[in-house]
Amino acid sequence: MLKYLELTKSGLYNLLRTGIESTPREATGQLYGGEQRNGSLIIHNSYPLQTATRKPTEVSYGNGEAVKRLKRLDEATGDYLIGGFHTHIKNDGEEKPCLKLSSSDIEFIETDMDNFKISNWVEIILRLKSLNFQYPQKTNILIKENPKKLIARIVDSPNHGYQAILCAYSLIRENGKTKISELKVKRRR
Ligand SMILES: [Zn+2]
Repeated sequence: MLKYLELTKSGLYNLLRTGIESTPREATGQLYGGEQRNGSLIIHNSYPLQTATRKPTEVSYGNGEAVKRLKRLDEATGDYLIGGFHTHIKNDGEEKPCLKLSSSDIEFIETDMDNFKISNWVEIILRLKSLNFQYPQKTNILIKENPKKLIARIVDSPNHGYQAILCAYSLIRENGKTKISELKVKRRR
């Protein structure tokens, strides 16, 4: 049974780059990997879907033709699609962005699972919050693991940074029903 999701260094930084680049809009994309060992699935890479519909508060997956082109490319390279990711960005007036899958998230994912004929899907939510520092800070990135989530504190300029929290869900479709459970996100060492 799948319990952990491990991100390689490039897998993690690609996700952070995509999320930060799109701010304040939400971003969406696909996760690629394959190796599964001792209940752990390894993510090698993530690709943003530029063709996806993006609105300030809503994302949906890309158009059919682009998705098919990517699928053919993956089959040629040997990595395969294991799921997707999307960002949750803090909106005005919101205490903190959610770390759970919304009902529309689940609908989008189920549609993708049907389109790709995949019954096991992994979805990462990357929650991003912009930080303003009153006192100048040293630019750096600190990453820590809490029991389930991966937390990054990024200082990209002396007075500004981001808090990024990654969490992941496993979605398994059986007889038209979707079972959802949270996975532990770890760094691949
Ligand atoms: Zn969402």
